[in-house]
Amino acid sequence: MDTMDATLHAALGERRIQHLYRQRSHLTSGCAAMITVDGKPQHNFCSNDYLGLAGHPDIALALKAGADQYGTGSGASHLISGHSEAHENLEQQLAEFTGRPRALLFSTGYMANMGVITALMGRHDMVLQDYLNHASLLDGGRLSRAQMQRYKHSNIEDLAAKLDASHASRKLVVTDGVFSMDGDLAPLVSVAETLRHKSGWLMVDDAHGFGVLGKTGGGLVEALGLSSDQVPILVGTLGKAFGTFGAFVAGSEALIETLIQFSRSYIYTTALPPSVAVASSASLKIVQAESWRREKLVSLVSRFRSGAEQLSLHLMDSQTPIQPVKINDDQLVIAISQQLRDQGFMVGAIRPPTVPKGSGRLRICLSAMHTDEQIDKLLDALESVIGE
Ligand SMILES: *Cc1c(COP(=O)(O)O)cnc(C)c1O
Repeated sequence: MDTMDATLHAALGERRIQHLYRQRSHLTSGCAAMITVDGKPQHNFCSNDYLGLAGHPDIALALKAGADQYGTGSGASHLISGHSEAHENLEQQLAEFTGRPRALLFSTGYMANMGVITALMGRHDMVLQDYLNHASLLDGGRLSRAQMQRYKHSNIEDLAAKLDASHASRKLVVTDGVFSMDGDLAPLVSVAETLRHKSGWLMVDDAHGFGVLGKTGGGLVEALGLSSDQVPILVGTLGKAFGTFGAFVAGSEALIETLIQFSRSYIYTTALPPSVAVASSASLKIVQAESWRREKLVSLVSRFRSGAEQLSLHLMDSQTPIQPVKINDDQLVIAISQQLRDQGFMVGAIRPPTVPKGSGRLRICLSAMHTDEQIDKLLDALESVIGE
């Protein structure tokens, strides 16, 4: 009897022994600078709400108005009867925002990445991915059944060599824009330049760059001034800096039509609630207009980094609001994050398999909702748990 549970318990026990067991915390507040976790107030340094929009009252009002107008659910997939004018409007706004001919909404970034790679690539093709790419990109590559190789992190020579060695009919180079666990930026200008000489298409997932980088929040591609020819496939998510939910792909007419025809994670799933699209439209306006949020982030990042340098913390090469502090001992990361929590500071404890073995880290995420005083208090807490 019950052999499934016995087998699963053994595997779960193994996970515990390796100190890799994951647990969820229970929030009784919304996402804000202070959150209530397991009944206790905590400074929130672990969300991807970089601009502080997840709790913005105007966006909540838009969501309510959307629900009044369209109800709670879309009722069907986009290709049946789920595609509402709210989705259509948001897609047009996102196309304009990204400077691409068209944009297509997906329900999540995970599904967008799976959907793009599987729609474009097949058995005779080659997918080349940065070693530190997000799991959803790697999973998309695997599911596509294309040959997949990972090139060394941000290493153009390795990428070029792997491109040269492949005779696949289609080649797709895939990279995060801002790397999610390290906070550093992909060398997109060099990657695009490499692809100008060698045949291959470039897909950039800028989940952590949109809203944060670029004059109007258009992400790394806007900050670097890269055109649609240079970056023909651009993915963004709406659940991070935008403070809502969902994702989009921006690109040419042919790309978007191809996704509508062939992308299974687009076709076989219920469309986002239209009210969420209305909320995202409201958020997009704020993202574009309120550049003070980006400016504040830059100042918080520099305040944090100079304080952390004085404490000799092991920072990484990141100018973005993702500020990892390397601990290297993958078990110690958990202990340290627990001590921070005891002092009222929530930070992500990141360990394998999310990052390579021995590179465990605290993933400190800054947000425009933080105050200077909060950063200083965090630094004090870090000093008390890591400082010598
Ligand atoms: C968060 C993230 C995703 C997934 O987006 P969701 O909308 O949360 O599914 C994809 N790519 C990267 C780089 C991410 O950080």
